[in-house]
Amino acid sequence: MPQKRFPIKRKLTIAIVIPIAIAILICWLAGVFILNTKIVRQAQEKVRNDLNAAREVYLHEVGHVRDVVRFTASAPYTAAVLHGDRKALAGMLVPLRQTEQLDLFMALDAQGNVLYRVNNPGAAGDDTSRNPAIARALKGEIAAGTWVVPAEAMATEGKQLVGQAAIPILPTPHARPTTETMERAGMMLIAAAPVRDGAGRIIGALCGGILLNNNNSLVDKIKSIVYEGVKADGKDVGSATIFLGDLRIATNVLTSTGSRAIGTRLSEEVYNRVIIHKEKWLDRAFVVNDWYVTAYEPILSVDGVPVGALYVGMLEKPFTAIKFRLGLLFSGILLVGAIIGIAVAGFLATRLARPVRELENAARRVAAGERDVQCRVSSRDELADLAEEFNQMNRALMQRESHITELNRGLEDKVRERTAELEDKNRLLVKTREELLRKEKLAAIGELAAGVAHEINNPLAIIRGNAELLQMSVPKGADNRDEVDTIYQQVGRIERIIGNLLRFARREKKQLGQVDSNRLLEEILAQIVHQVPLSGIRIMKEYEAGLPVVEGDSDQIRQVLTNLVLNAIQAMGQEGMLTIKTRMDGAEDRVAIIIADTGAGIKAEDLPQIFNPFFTTKANGTGLGLSVSYGIVHDHGGTIEVESEAGKGSSFKVSLPLKISCKF
Ligand code: ADP
Repeated sequence: MPQKRFPIKRKLTIAIVIPIAIAILICWLAGVFILNTKIVRQAQEKVRNDLNAAREVYLHEVGHVRDVVRFTASAPYTAAVLHGDRKALAGMLVPLRQTEQLDLFMALDAQGNVLYRVNNPGAAGDDTSRNPAIARALKGEIAAGTWVVPAEAMATEGKQLVGQAAIPILPTPHARPTTETMERAGMMLIAAAPVRDGAGRIIGALCGGILLNNNNSLVDKIKSIVYEGVKADGKDVGSATIFLGDLRIATNVLTSTGSRAIGTRLSEEVYNRVIIHKEKWLDRAFVVNDWYVTAYEPILSVDGVPVGALYVGMLEKPFTAIKFRLGLLFSGILLVGAIIGIAVAGFLATRLARPVRELENAARRVAAGERDVQCRVSSRDELADLAEEFNQMNRALMQRESHITELNRGLEDKVRERTAELEDKNRLLVKTREELLRKEKLAAIGELAAGVAHEINNPLAIIRGNAELLQMSVPKGADNRDEVDTIYQQVGRIERIIGNLLRFARREKKQLGQVDSNRLLEEILAQIVHQVPLSGIRIMKEYEAGLPVVEGDSDQIRQVLTNLVLNAIQAMGQEGMLTIKTRMDGAEDRVAIIIADTGAGIKAEDLPQIFNPFFTTKANGTGLGLSVSYGIVHDHGGTIEVESEAGKGSSFKVSLPLKISCKF
């Protein structure tokens, strides 16, 4: 299965985009995390500070009660009227309670028994010394703080306070389980101070307080001081609450119907942390019907027991909205960054991949056989170096290729030369073989002919002797004299044939000497002119001057040349042109003698046979002239060749070496 192609451009893009994507993802995660934690932490920090401010407001309110009680208790008039007329005591305390907006105000004797209770003048004489603030006041201290008046004790504080303290407990999810349906205990800010006589003895005490149940002025004050009416989506952002135990007794947190959420309760988790373990709660929390960034701290009673909690909180929504908006902005910036990054990556990848593609194309063209391929890469980097290397390699390749082609051509020429040489040698071999065969044949024929001639010679001598005797015995003009003459003539002819046969058999040994070819030819011609009529025949002589002499038997060579000239004259008949040429034969040390005629020529089929003994086309021919000549010439180390065309003429060339290398 072919592997899937993965182009370099895509690889480069991925290689650039992946780090960018990872960096952007990390940036985004880090950014979102920082935004989240920073905003949440800042919000939490603010709420923690808000709680501090709220505590200050709460303590300031406690301080206010304490100051009222302290100043009143220390006034000399108070000591004067404490154990005196109740009217005078009421005349002092009642207006004070009203102006200082105290819910509880009472005068006590030195044992803690109530002398006068402004909020319920009918109830007096009860012992309050179990109240730790009063107990400490009776010992001379000024004590102030939070105190929870139990439900059963509330009755003595008068109807109005009982009514204000009563809060129906509303069902609240996540709150700790309870069977109670109504809270009747009252949570108060109280202060107690001793009243001393002129001698400084403690003669009683004053105790004042503010009931916090259903009293929202303190929480509203906290809210207005801390949050200054900041709103989000028409809703107050900040809120404050005072809890009695886990019950909201004063709050500006609203229910879904828009009323204050008094009577709803704290979640069990927060209750356990704050009330049971006396720890702060600084975290987000679901308050009534929404998520808030919250801070809770326990409210301790004057004897150090946690009796409730102080809460401040801010709606989480505005922070979530800020978080969301900032997150969106941040994501947008990163997205734009990512798009720019990817675009730049794509651009860079394309730029980087282009020269690679260029190189690939060039390599493919070279592989397809194109040669003058130059790769042009303009980038100034390693790819440009690679392209230059490629170009150089290609140039070197071209040079090497042309060198190989030249070598090939040279090799082919050499092969052709060698083949031609070989063919020449072959031809020479064939010729040599043919000549060898011919020589063997001639030798066999010559031997036979010599034997026959020798055997015939003796009887012929007898016939010749007897024929001469007959000639002498039969006078001229007598009967039978013609027949006797004919016998005598034919005997002569037989003798000539036998002579030729003997010459053919080369029984005669060569007499080596110096042969001047030009002179020899002249002598032959002079002799022939006397013997044969040459009236219609023109003779052309082309002798080369200063031709060197050849080594050889001049009689035998004379016989060869005479034979050739006579054959030529016979072939021409009445008229024609006889050409006789001599010259050096090529570069070799040889002399060539050429005898050409314009006679009948030799038929193509006869040409291979003319040097064979007894081949003749003439009526009186013996067919021995050329075969004898052939034998003589070869005996001298020379060659005899013929060129002829029937009807046009023939040309015989005898080539003789200046020196015979092998002498037999
Ligand atoms: P002969 O002359 O007795 O026939 P040769 O051996 O001299 O014997 O010649 C053999 C044959 O070669 C001749 O019969 C002739 O047919 C042919 N021949 C030789 N020389 C010539 C020539 N110059 N022109 C034409 N034919 C020739």
